[in-house]
Amino acid sequence: MSTTTTQSLARGSRKRTRSCATGLRCHRCDLSYALEESVFACPQCGKGLDITYDYELAARRFEEVPRETRARNIWRFEELLPIVDASAQARVGSHGGYTPLIRADRLGAELGIANLYLKDDSTSRPSLSYKDRVVAMSVARLLELGRTEMGCVSTGNVGTAVASYAAKAGADAYVFYPNRLEDTKARACAAMGAKVCQVEGNYDEANRRCREVAESTGMEFANITLRPFYAEGAKTEAFEIVEQLEWKAPEHIITAAAGGTLSSRLHKGLGELQLLGLAETDSTRIHIAQPSGCNPISAAILAEEAEIRPITPETAAHSLAIGAPGDGYLVIDAVLKRGGTGGFASDPEIFAGVDLLAATEGLLTEPAGGTTVAVLHKMAAEGRFGADEVVVAIITGNGLKTLDDHPDKPWPAKIECELDAMLEALEELKSTAALRDRALEALAHR
Ligand SMILES: *Cc1c(COP(=O)(O)O)cnc(C)c1O
Ligand SMILES: [Zn+2]
Repeated sequence: MSTTTTQSLARGSRKRTRSCATGLRCHRCDLSYALEESVFACPQCGKGLDITYDYELAARRFEEVPRETRARNIWRFEELLPIVDASAQARVGSHGGYTPLIRADRLGAELGIANLYLKDDSTSRPSLSYKDRVVAMSVARLLELGRTEMGCVSTGNVGTAVASYAAKAGADAYVFYPNRLEDTKARACAAMGAKVCQVEGNYDEANRRCREVAESTGMEFANITLRPFYAEGAKTEAFEIVEQLEWKAPEHIITAAAGGTLSSRLHKGLGELQLLGLAETDSTRIHIAQPSGCNPISAAILAEEAEIRPITPETAAHSLAIGAPGDGYLVIDAVLKRGGTGGFASDPEIFAGVDLLAATEGLLTEPAGGTTVAVLHKMAAEGRFGADEVVVAIITGNGLKTLDDHPDKPWPAKIECELDAMLEALEELKSTAALRDRALEALAHR
């Protein structure tokens, strides 16, 4: 990896954002690096790097601009984001972030959760998943570095986010997909002009090779060489949730976990809100949901182990199929510190989770969101949520991208355009079981 000082950042004349980022620091050994250095893993110990901030300055700057005047987008909390070059920030655009927080009374009633909210990243812009948040930071960083080419390795949604944001920023995107994912995701990338290839290997294998590609070509990779910046984007999820609850942090947040970026940065984001005096967040628990066929983080949490034991994934929730999660050790720390837990669900339960969310709240999510709902169902059944506690479930992706993989649906048959045929069809449709009932039955039979 290179540690050269970047040209564009070194020029002092550029207009700066209000970012209070001060540098990079190793998660393990505390060695620090200047923000200008393009270094993504600690040269000393090999662990990932974290972005550091001047929190006193951030608290002051946060006061300077009243909340009412701040745009509701990914840059709303820019003091606590790592992008310092205002033109890079502008070129990424201001359409991402600030997804709705929806009260979910009908799903809550089925699960027995009195105060349930959904943070709906299935409607995230531009590419309909939480990955828009993290990739926005990677692409902004790419522009700060004065580069115009970006690669990524993706379980599905990083690819579509990179394709979209790169196109918007005028950069070339190269997407490496593993052997198994939903076709629609790979096609959507290509449709947005990214150069896509699928390699014969699972995500963890593809990830290792992509790191070698990055090292041998010098190409920046959204979620490898730009990872410290990528990860910071996930904090916006925590900031938005707490603000949308009128600065009252929820008692519980649950999300699906794959590489562990989102769940570990929820912890960091919550901690920063507390540091800045914006909200009391110490008692917010973070829970993670994983597929039974790929649950290395949940398994470690349940066994109270500090390190992940890598596994070979076997699940239809392709966007969660990471067997050697890079940020897994940070998630374990976050969940155990906050008194949360890890859960997992089988593939049939995951699709039942997708169905239950659809049938009760009218939201079509992908298997990752179904995993969260299925685990939420188990946790509620175990009595983990108090009657006056607020629970927020993050719906991280959109089911339109994964419909072709959804099993057992009575997809419509074509009938004749004649009154008799249509009346007969209507009678038949009325006698088929409701989606909600089928979903609940599948969740109960485990
Ligand atoms: C990537 C992804 C996740 C998990 O995110 P990590 O930060 O890798 O743990 C969850 N849901 C969806 C839809 C995703 O694409
Ligand atoms: Zn280190």
